[in-house]
Amino acid sequence: MPLKFLRQRARRPSLGTAVWSRALAHCAYARRLPPADSRRLRELAALFLDAKSFDGAAGLRITTEMRAAIALKACVPILNLGLDYYAGWKDVVVYPGDFRVNDEYMDNAGVVHQDTRDLCGQSLTQGPMVLSWQTIEEEDFMPDRDLVMHECAHKLDILNGDANGFPPLHASMSVDHWARIFNAAFERFGAAVEEETETALDPYAATDPAEFFAVLSETFFTQPTIVRDDFPAVYAELSRFYRQDPSTVFAGGAAS
Ligand SMILES: [Zn+2]
Repeated sequence: MPLKFLRQRARRPSLGTAVWSRALAHCAYARRLPPADSRRLRELAALFLDAKSFDGAAGLRITTEMRAAIALKACVPILNLGLDYYAGWKDVVVYPGDFRVNDEYMDNAGVVHQDTRDLCGQSLTQGPMVLSWQTIEEEDFMPDRDLVMHECAHKLDILNGDANGFPPLHASMSVDHWARIFNAAFERFGAAVEEETETALDPYAATDPAEFFAVLSETFFTQPTIVRDDFPAVYAELSRFYRQDPSTVFAGGAAS
């Protein structure tokens, strides 16, 4: 009896056209990508959906649209890095709106304090990425904001330890140069915020170096000219790290 070898084509996850176009409506940068990059982003988003699990919290029923929009946004920063950059965590938790967290911390005198905060996003080391769907929807009308990309920047930052605005750089990049450029920009920006000077970049970036990197990253992919014009050396470093040049994409993009 002849042996039959059946070879099944490996299942490749994919995202349907209708779902993908609804997801694109949530991301101006992705809409402007050249067709070849857009195709790669769609494939990567499908792999992201396959690799991560989504949970609705506080009664939220997660829809295909929510999943696809979050996957698309999450894959923009890693388009030229790869899904391995999101290794070490699996869950995406989505709340309908802001959510409350209880923090416990010890001050220098050893006294333990408890703090309650309302957040729209959170990324824990090895833990889930937590998001507010209401914020994601509101950001469709806020051209310089992207909560998902912001939280993803934190995820990249903590790949090599604490959240400190220092993600694992490529071998071709200089750690000293990155530190010098970012520290100088952070100090200059912090001083401007302190003096209540109006800044194009969200003043929340002055909170600490981790937030500086996360806010700069989301602005890099939403309104890159803010980063390029106000922080040219930082823009160059972010371009090297993300291996993308969003200001060129926005300048040459066909769709709005
Ligand atoms: Zn943050």
